[in-house]
Amino acid sequence: MPEVQSPETRWSWVEIDLDAVRRNTAAFKRCLERGVQMMCVVKADAYGHGAVRCAHQMLRAGADQFAVADVEEGIALRQAGISEPILVLSEPPLESVGKLVEFDVMPSVYTQEFALALGECAAAHNKVAKYHLAVDTGMTRIGVLPEDVVEFRRAIDFHRGIECAGTFTHFATADVPGDWDFEMQRKRFDQAVGALRDAGLETGLVHCDNTPGTVLHPEIHYDMSRVGIGLYGLHPADSTRGRIDLAPVMSVRGRITRVVKPEVGTPVGYGATYRVPKPSIQIATVPIGYADGLARVLSNKMSVLVNGERCRQVGRICMDQFMFAVDVNGARAYKPTKPVSYGDVVTIVGRDGDEEITMDQMAAQRDTINYEVACDFGLRLQKIYV
Ligand SMILES: *Cc1c(COP(=O)(O)O)cnc(C)c1O
Repeated sequence: MPEVQSPETRWSWVEIDLDAVRRNTAAFKRCLERGVQMMCVVKADAYGHGAVRCAHQMLRAGADQFAVADVEEGIALRQAGISEPILVLSEPPLESVGKLVEFDVMPSVYTQEFALALGECAAAHNKVAKYHLAVDTGMTRIGVLPEDVVEFRRAIDFHRGIECAGTFTHFATADVPGDWDFEMQRKRFDQAVGALRDAGLETGLVHCDNTPGTVLHPEIHYDMSRVGIGLYGLHPADSTRGRIDLAPVMSVRGRITRVVKPEVGTPVGYGATYRVPKPSIQIATVPIGYADGLARVLSNKMSVLVNGERCRQVGRICMDQFMFAVDVNGARAYKPTKPVSYGDVVTIVGRDGDEEITMDQMAAQRDTINYEVACDFGLRLQKIYV
């Protein structure tokens, strides 16, 4: 392990590679035709990677707009000096219209009540609030149904306080090549956009592609693409592997806070689910637990990397700490042979020498997707930007 920085107050952290954020952003920018904008999705604190720091790097690599999950996330970007358009990817509570107008953050809209409340608030401040119309083409999550879009717009367009800056939908199966549901959604979206245009209504920027859509369906980039997970160097599915080169951004590391060499039979952790099997075993402790995103289901199943070698995690993962075993006699089953010591760097996700543990491997062990693993590690651990 090369020299690493770690936080002063806790020996556990996520390491964010800002250069990789820029390279990934640029790779997606190259996927887009001239004139197609890139909306970088930095919701959930940039999938756990730190929205403000990541957004600044994305801007340097060609981001045109940003998307967030809630109003507070949008305000945080504004307060960090980001002046590009920001879209909230769902319709927030009516009570938020004042903040949206004040900070110039665009909501997604799909109820008339909200649209008109936004318009009233903006007009009262002599402003025009922009919004994007969400269309539910088949994911059944948010949006106006395609057959209702023209009527919906006619019911709100009289208001001089609002302006439609975009029309979008979201696919449920953009990562599945040749998928029937995807084709249906795409057809319905086309029809909705066509109906708005035929009715003489301004659609604003038309957009529908997420990361897999951007890579696999360039024919429907329309005016803008919404890229999320790929910016963080993670593939949304196997179908995009080999189609775009991505660099992992997040590593998760800690330092050993204690090492002991217990007697044979000594229990380790809650429930004593592991007992030291022979005299050559060191048990080391690392201050990362399930409250930091290291899911408890990984107990006794995962490995960690120390000094470029793989070691078995043992005992139940606690809320804030876990333990692992090192066989200092080097019996094959318990590599490595090199004893570990207080302060050694332990890699939970990431690279150490020739060994690597990926987000995807951890996601598979947890029976989930890399999105959730990254978000979880972003919740509490301090971030070190490199
Ligand atoms: C999260 C989200 C995205 C980004 O999806 P990725 O798969 O991370 O690229 C795009 N659009 C909407 C509406 C989303 O909610």
